[in-house]
Amino acid sequence: MNALNPEKQPLLALVNRETPLDPTAYEQKGGWRGVRRALAMSPAEVIEEVTKSKLRGRGGAGFSTGMKWSFVPKEPANERRKYIVANGDEMEPGTFKDRILVEGHPLQLIEGMIISAYAIQAAYGVIFLRGEYHLGLERLQQAVEQARAAGWLGKNILGSGFDFDIHVHPSAGRYICGEETALLTALEGRRANPRSKPPFPQIGGLWGAPTVVNNIETFSNIPHILANGFEWYLGLSACEDGGTKLYGVSGRAKRPGVFELPLGTTLGVILNECAGGMQDGYKLRAFLPGGASTAFLGAEHADIVMDYPTPEKAGSRLGTGLAILLDDRTSPIGMIRNLEHFFAQESCGWCTPCRDGLPWVERLLIEIEEGRGTEQDLARLKDAARLIGPMGRTFCAHAPGAIAPLDSGLKLFAEDFAQHIRRSTHTDRAGDVSERA
Ligand code: NAD
Repeated sequence: MNALNPEKQPLLALVNRETPLDPTAYEQKGGWRGVRRALAMSPAEVIEEVTKSKLRGRGGAGFSTGMKWSFVPKEPANERRKYIVANGDEMEPGTFKDRILVEGHPLQLIEGMIISAYAIQAAYGVIFLRGEYHLGLERLQQAVEQARAAGWLGKNILGSGFDFDIHVHPSAGRYICGEETALLTALEGRRANPRSKPPFPQIGGLWGAPTVVNNIETFSNIPHILANGFEWYLGLSACEDGGTKLYGVSGRAKRPGVFELPLGTTLGVILNECAGGMQDGYKLRAFLPGGASTAFLGAEHADIVMDYPTPEKAGSRLGTGLAILLDDRTSPIGMIRNLEHFFAQESCGWCTPCRDGLPWVERLLIEIEEGRGTEQDLARLKDAARLIGPMGRTFCAHAPGAIAPLDSGLKLFAEDFAQHIRRSTHTDRAGDVSERA
């Protein structure tokens, strides 16, 4: 049995990573229908359609897209400066879905951005792209030029009187630039430190102007919602929110990759029916459901639906939707140490718990993994998770995200940690990591 249904894969249906469609070929295959319909509606009607579709942000946090757009001040584009920003700074470990969309079908993203810009009445858009996505950058720049030449970008689009243009901006290469306020600060030409929220970007974003920041996958859904209507979109999903999701797996699966499936699919289906199951000789032990900044779930939870938390259902946590698998032959402590190395290195350095706490966590993990850890080190690690992890102690979600795999791992792999401490060769039980380093 295979869960993949080609009839219900709007996002990937026209993806071609060898030769993406040009504007004319895209139109012949049904493209630009969404923007045509949107421009015949009022901006408020477009926002209502997207709200009714129950599209939630695909970057990881799952905020309602229609609601986000509705917060933007309503003046027309010629009366107030506003911006649309596509967040393509896809640096979450194990996450590579936006890359496929920008390399294989950039016009879908561009159409989604035109519709969004019309809905909030923005005249200018930026695509902020991960620095390493060289092919994606080339494809996006070419697609923007082609769309402009064909009249889909620029002045008076489709004779509607609406003007909109897009600039493609490659990132200088920091994970923190994916955090929306750090991204905006970087676009302004300054060091990419996050800002406090509120004000949210919808009110005070790029250069202080109202700005909608959405993920690449989120924007790529928009043309389909407008072309086919919110009811059709709701029907694609297997849960109460709308649409499909680009799910995926990395790790010891037979066919790691990205798959478009109904929102609300389980890891078991993604792994076994799409990714071919685990490689021979390996068993699934646990997984991070949606990138590195989510909490570990044990293999027994592979049948949990991967959707967004709601007030009634706080347990399920989708993140980016691309799971990282831990098999039974890989050390969970080594895996967590590796993740914390990444998070420590990528802290922007602005908030003390993140700047100083994460390197400390990494050093404790190195001690434990290399057989020099003590009971005190384990206690310090738990303290660090308790002190750094909660939201609100730092400006952005970097530190809480970094602590999610550690905190859950300390509980789920408690016996592995205990064994490492028991086998430790370190004899000075009062010793401190800094004294030993
Ligand atoms: P967040 O919940 O603070 O915000 C999500 C979005 O909702 C933002 O656009 C924000 O402006 C909006 N929002 C939230 N509350 C609002 C309010 N009260 N009023 C108006 N707007 C509001 O989350 P975040 O810090 O932007 O993102 C965290 C997520 O990012 C994590 O879940 C993680 O999975 C994901 N992530 C993804 C990547 C990637 O490469 N795709 C990388 C790192 C982290």
